[in-house]
Amino acid sequence: MSVPTESTYLGLSGADPAAPRVVEARMLTKIYGTGGAQVTALDQVSLAVSRGQFVAVMGPSGSGKSTLLHCLAGLDTPNSGSVFIAGKDLARMNDRQLTAVRRDQLGFVFQAFNLLPQLTAEENILLPLRLAHRKPERDWYNAVIDSLGIGDRLEHRPSELSGGQQQRVAVARALVGRPEVIFADEPTGALDSASAASLLETLARMCEALGQTVVMVTHDQNAAGATNRIVRLRDGRIVGDDAVARPAGQHAAPAAAMQGVR
Ligand code: ADP
Repeated sequence: MSVPTESTYLGLSGADPAAPRVVEARMLTKIYGTGGAQVTALDQVSLAVSRGQFVAVMGPSGSGKSTLLHCLAGLDTPNSGSVFIAGKDLARMNDRQLTAVRRDQLGFVFQAFNLLPQLTAEENILLPLRLAHRKPERDWYNAVIDSLGIGDRLEHRPSELSGGQQQRVAVARALVGRPEVIFADEPTGALDSASAASLLETLARMCEALGQTVVMVTHDQNAAGATNRIVRLRDGRIVGDDAVARPAGQHAAPAAAMQGVR
């Protein structure tokens, strides 16, 4: 194992000291393969993300972005290091507890929308809660639908929606259970550039208005203009962690419906 370097701690500096840490990774190392075929996908990566941050994880192909996202989300296990979600150590959980954290505290958005074609948008959005025998919180549900601008599309089936609208439905589905954090893996990868820019802007507004935390792996260069933090990976290490200043007033003011929701 290599000696910790400045890059080991770089990802800790971008957290907002005044806000609670929703995600924290300490010294994550992930090695695939054995012997000569060994690949160090993550090399002592530490990262802290505060509530309400919209973080883009960027870097060349093979730099470890997906591995980092999967380790943070408990979908993959690091060889060493720890991941805390809302202060709880994933490594100390049994399978049942980990499943409950993934179901109740994490939301996922992928490049593919993964909507069920026979269900309406609303039925797709509410499906995870139905499966968990949970009822939606009405105020939160309405705020999510408002912030994503899909109120007039809820009765449509996915085939009647544009790609951008389908991805908004997928984002609403990830959000409706009020997760601590949403992990998004190339969410704009299947969209045309106008829909991609609009989705990024909506995600940014949502983080600001609803206090939602999003960690997004992306190649989309527009991410720099929409997120408030960019973490750059190279060869399994964090090589940059920069706050992105957004001009005042660029975000729409929070809608009245969202105020006080979180
Ligand atoms: P990125 O998402 O930035 O493209 P990945 O996290 O997918 O990077 O991969 C990081 C490194 O780990 C790459 O060298 C990749 O080939 C390797 N890797 C990823 N997953 C596996 C796996 N399941 N088995 C072996 N090597 C893997």
